[in-house]
Amino acid sequence: MSMGVLRRTPLNPPALRGNESRSARIFCLPPRVCSMRVLLYDDPIFREHDAGRGHPERPERLDAVRRGLRDAGLEARLRSASPRDATRAELLRVHTEAHVERVAATAGRTVRFDADTQAGPRSYAAALRAAGAAVQAVERVLAGEAERAFCAVRPPGHHAEADRAMGFCLFNNVAVAAAHALGGGLERVMVVDWDVHHGNGTQAMFYEDPRVLYLSSHEFPFYPGTGALEEVGEGRGRGFTVNLPMPAGLGDAEYARVYRQVVEPIGRAFDPQLLLVSVGFDPYVADPLAGMRVTERGFAEMAAVCLSIAAAAAASRAVFVLEGGYDLDGIALSAAAVVALLTGEGHAPLPWPASGPMDRLLEAYRQVLAPFWPALGS
Ligand SMILES: [Zn+2]
Repeated sequence: MSMGVLRRTPLNPPALRGNESRSARIFCLPPRVCSMRVLLYDDPIFREHDAGRGHPERPERLDAVRRGLRDAGLEARLRSASPRDATRAELLRVHTEAHVERVAATAGRTVRFDADTQAGPRSYAAALRAAGAAVQAVERVLAGEAERAFCAVRPPGHHAEADRAMGFCLFNNVAVAAAHALGGGLERVMVVDWDVHHGNGTQAMFYEDPRVLYLSSHEFPFYPGTGALEEVGEGRGRGFTVNLPMPAGLGDAEYARVYRQVVEPIGRAFDPQLLLVSVGFDPYVADPLAGMRVTERGFAEMAAVCLSIAAAAAASRAVFVLEGGYDLDGIALSAAAVVALLTGEGHAPLPWPASGPMDRLLEAYRQVLAPFWPALGS
C-alpha cells in the first residue's frame, strides 16, 4: 500500500456529499464544540442480563461504575442519558441475520452459547439496548449535542463475531457503533481497545476495511488467542489493524510508554474523525481474570492518549464503551479516573522510562508497524 493512504488530510463535514442517499445524511458535523458536555449512558435493563450463577460478568459491575463516579463527585458533571434499542438494520451492518435471530430467540429463556457465554431471559433486551446506547452516543456526539460519552453497558461486546456470541458478548456494541458512524458518512473511525483481552470480534469485522483503524493492546498469549503483532489487516485494510500484544505483569509505566510512544503517533497519523474506546478495566492490578498490574493512574494515562488522538479531525469527539473488568473496587476507581478526564479534569502525565526492559517489545512493534506507520520511526 502507498504510505500516502495513511496520512490523510483531516476532513471537515464529511457527511453531505451530493451522491449520498438521504439515509446517509444523519450527521451534521459542527465545528469544534466549545463547552464540555459529557453523556453518561446507563439503563436498569443492563442489570437484568444474567450471565449465569457465579459469573464474573455480573450486574454489580455497573453499580461499581456508578459508585466510583458518585464518590469522585463526577455524576453532577455528567448528563444522564437513556439509551434506545439498536435497530435490526443497525445490527445487520456487522452481524449476520442468523446470529441476530439466534440471540433474539433467547428472549424469555436461558441459552448457553459456549462455556463462558450465556443469555438469560432478559439478555436479548439488554444486548439490544447496550448496542443502542453506543449507537445513540455516536449520533449525539456527531450531531454536536455532546462532546463525549461514557456508556456503562452490559453485556460487553468486543468478542462477539459477525456470526457468533462468545466471551461474555452477544452483540458487538462498539462495532455496531463504528459501522453506524461509517453509515453516516464518516471516513475514518478509530477504535482503541484497551481491554486486557484481544477484541477478536471487532478486529474481524473491519479486517479488510481501511476506514476503521482497530488498535488493541492486550495480554498475549491469552484468551481468545487472536491478536498477534503480525495480524495487521488484509487487502485494502492492510495496516489498519494494529495489535500490541503484551506479556503479563505490565503496569502503569509500561502501558504509559506503549501508549505515548506507539498508540499516540499512530492515532495522530490516522487522525480519526471519531474515536471509540473499548474500555476494559481488566488490566487492573487486582483483576481476577488477568495478569496485568495497571492502576487507575494507568487508565487515566490511556484515556489521555485517546483524547489527544481525538483532538484534531475528531474535534474531541469520543465515545467510551465498557467492555470487561471484574474487580469491583478497581472498576469504581478506574471508571472515575477515566470519566474525570472526559469531563476535562486535568491530568498529570505518568512518567515512563525512556529505555529499559520494554525496549525489545517496542522494537518488535516498530519492526512490524513502521512500514505502515512511518511516524513510529525506524
Ligand atoms: Zn476482557
